[in-house]
Amino acid sequence: MEDLLNVEIKQSDYSSEISAQRKFFQSGATKSYQFRIRQLDKLYKVISENEKLILEAVKKDLNKSVFEGFFGDVALILHEISFVKKHLSKWMKPEAVRTPITHFGSSCKIFHEPYGVNLIISPWNYPFQLSFIPLIGAIAGGNTAVVKPSELSPNSSALIARLIKETFSNEYVICIEGGIEVSNALLNKQFDHIFFTGSVPVGKIVMEAASKNLTPVTLELGGKSPTIIDSSANIKLAARRVAWGKFFNAGQTCVAPDYLYVHKSIENEFLSTLKDEIIKLYTNNALNFSDYAHIINVRHFSRLKSLLNGPSVYFGGRTDENTLAFEPTILTNVSKDHPVMKEEIFGPILPVLSFDSIEEVIAEINKNPKPLALYLFTENKSVKEKIIKNIPFGGGSINDTLFHLATPHLPFGGVGSSGHGSYHGIHSFKCFTHEKSVLSQTTKFDLSVRYHTTRGALNIIRMLFK
Ligand code: NAD
Repeated sequence: MEDLLNVEIKQSDYSSEISAQRKFFQSGATKSYQFRIRQLDKLYKVISENEKLILEAVKKDLNKSVFEGFFGDVALILHEISFVKKHLSKWMKPEAVRTPITHFGSSCKIFHEPYGVNLIISPWNYPFQLSFIPLIGAIAGGNTAVVKPSELSPNSSALIARLIKETFSNEYVICIEGGIEVSNALLNKQFDHIFFTGSVPVGKIVMEAASKNLTPVTLELGGKSPTIIDSSANIKLAARRVAWGKFFNAGQTCVAPDYLYVHKSIENEFLSTLKDEIIKLYTNNALNFSDYAHIINVRHFSRLKSLLNGPSVYFGGRTDENTLAFEPTILTNVSKDHPVMKEEIFGPILPVLSFDSIEEVIAEINKNPKPLALYLFTENKSVKEKIIKNIPFGGGSINDTLFHLATPHLPFGGVGSSGHGSYHGIHSFKCFTHEKSVLSQTTKFDLSVRYHTTRGALNIIRMLFK
């Protein structure tokens, strides 16, 4: 009976689920401050009470350690809920803005209006964080949401669906599990906003589908994020923070350092320090180290293995196809035309290039699509300013990796082909609401200058609007 029911749901085009959400949204139920706070409280409770199951699910899907699972998939969600709850009443208030002299007698306000019914499509690498942090934004904005997690992390997807079902009514938040077909069926429906996290090619499919209904989209995509180690860098700290940011979740992080540019004068010292730091974090035998994540599936494992053909393996390179473990690997002698420098790596392979001048690095990076993240290690203020001023990128850290995404005060998102729109903190609230501009005019008087029938009106308009 349950199977029959599942088949029926799978064959549905989700019209009834979406119309139920539209009806619920239009009833106004999701809009009050109290309702939104109650839902955020419920979400906080269900995530904290199910921490153990979440950690088990990401262990099964990706062999994530308790530390990486908690940090990447639980802590950030809880912190985001607490932050949003603290500020929501202020964010929700209509914002009064100034009125120019030309509009004498009127007042202007911006109202933060929920979009309505949202579609959230998420990837497999941080399955909980990347489904629930956008959902927090949708709830805070006063919306309803359909969440479609990735089929490639099945244990996490099943648990996300269960937690959502236990916490919310379907007409408010529903999780619809499935792969590309389900995703496409949903994309063919009319939503008020689509929030997509995933790869650049699928981002294009999402944008094309959204264009049919002119649905606003937020795209959180990927790409190749460069890391620059300047000659002035603190080598030990840089090596440790690169090793941490690159090999966390076995490199399967959208903002992981994709490749390194190291100044020629420190290349040898940096490489040997990096090797030492990797061993400190993951031992000399990461393949059998229980706290090191594995590759999500055979397809990605084989894709990554093929990237080892050509360059020299400076460190690592061993793999285990039974467990899908892939050693932290450093590549040197890398040609810029090699596939490892052409596609997003999204795994524990770190190609290292060297450079002489920072201008050369800027020119090289700017030949490629605008990256999602950029990292620079330097003690030199002018190098820092030069990089920030001359390379467009979504966001980044100076003398660190990944950390810019873990603060709710900074907007997180890409630019150009690494994505559009941003979220986290107030930026999530803005991402899931429309800024509705309203001018309220006085009825106490009526300035006649706007009417063409008034003598001399044109001259006054010319004077006022210059
Ligand atoms: P993906 O694009 O293959 O899949 C993401 C989602 O889209 C999944 O739910 C999947 O079911 C769905 N999907 C896949 N193919 C589809 C298709 N043809 N039509 C419609 N829907 C489809 O991405 P992934 O492999 O799950 O994740 C890895 C990518 O995501 C990397 O490029 C990474 O950089 C990026 N990413 C970005 C961020 C960010 O915040 N910017 C975070 C994590 C991952």
